[in-house]
Amino acid sequence: LVDYQQILAEIEAEVQPLLGKGRVADYIPPLAEVDPGRFGMAVRLVDGTDFCVGEADNAFSIQSVSKAFRLAAAARTHGEAIWKRVGREPSGTSFNSLIQLEEEKGIPRNPMINAGALVVMDALLEGGRPDPGMEFIEKCLGGQPVDWDRFVASAECETAHRNRALAHLIKSFGNLTGHPDEVVEAHCRESAVTLSCRDLCRAAMFMATAGVTEEGVRVCSARQVKRLNAVLLISGVYDEAGDYAYRVGLPAKSGVGGGVLAVMPGVFTACVWSPGLNQKGNSLAGTKALELLTTKSGVSVF
Ligand code: GLU
Repeated sequence: LVDYQQILAEIEAEVQPLLGKGRVADYIPPLAEVDPGRFGMAVRLVDGTDFCVGEADNAFSIQSVSKAFRLAAAARTHGEAIWKRVGREPSGTSFNSLIQLEEEKGIPRNPMINAGALVVMDALLEGGRPDPGMEFIEKCLGGQPVDWDRFVASAECETAHRNRALAHLIKSFGNLTGHPDEVVEAHCRESAVTLSCRDLCRAAMFMATAGVTEEGVRVCSARQVKRLNAVLLISGVYDEAGDYAYRVGLPAKSGVGGGVLAVMPGVFTACVWSPGLNQKGNSLAGTKALELLTTKSGVSVF
């Protein structure tokens, strides 16, 4: 039997030298003020037992971790049709690159880079609700309301020149239904959702249980979850997907707030938060922590 609590204690001790080493995301002013040395981690088994260490109950800005839920929500409403508007190949470029989008005529390479996530948001907004991705997260949490940080959202929105450029470029190719500003604003609000490691593990449980929340509600089909996890594995951690598969061996989604969510189908969800980022924009200590989790437990998708 794997002793996850013991493993988490060892991980916390072993990542100490990395804490404070990375760089916080500074293109969103309030995120630049977070202490890069903070750390929390949670692992939640499919039976609902959880194990926590450090600041696992501190709510942080989930940023792009929300894109995993956004895609799951679109799989529910749009099914396979979503893949006419967005690809599912690794991008090999940074998360907010414009060049590839121009070359590929407005069809973003995958739903985890910003261009693709904006297309998925646009598809969800066709339903007429202002924050459909957030509503999906609430559903995954058994109806628990989620909050978003107005300060972070508005700071990002004011400086979202690149995301606006992406949205307009997509629109120019005819792959955006809504107004670029509305899509970007909804993207900024959803990115500003705050959740703790412990809550993210619970919200993501459907990704480990072939589509069923802890309350027993089916939010996705088993097939949709299989596909979501495949997309996370090839594109969930910016252009570090290969190294993640190699070192961690789990589908994962990271965000510039320093959170990383990882899924071991059938076994657990794991979430780590440490705001110092590595060169690729993934949490430096978080990546190490997940590598240690799969190494010490001997549990990974490979
Ligand atoms: N709010 C961020 C953006 O759109 C999310 C990026 C991220 O976490 O990767 O730039």
